Amino acid sequence: MALSAALNDADLELTCHKCGHVSVRKGSWIKVSSSFKCESCGGRNRIGYPEKVAIFEKYAALSRRSLNAEACGIQPLLTVDVV
Ligand SMILES: [Zn+2]
Repeated sequence: MALSAALNDADLELTCHKCGHVSVRKGSWIKVSSSFKCESCGGRNRIGYPEKVAIFEKYAALSRRSLNAEACGIQPLLTVDVV
């Protein structure tokens, strides 16, 4: 699973693990960063690769109407079991 270049200019949400404050960063920023400082409590949060993927997936799920997730190389979050 890759972090799509299509989301470089997207505003993605980072949630502070300590206080729950949501910060917004560009996709391109998240890709190259390994941590971010919370604007509310000043706490430092690590951003591991799995967390980056989760952030990108969340955005893709929210923008499904305007963004083709498959074209971005991101698998849809929802799967349907065919019986
Ligand atoms: Zn915080």
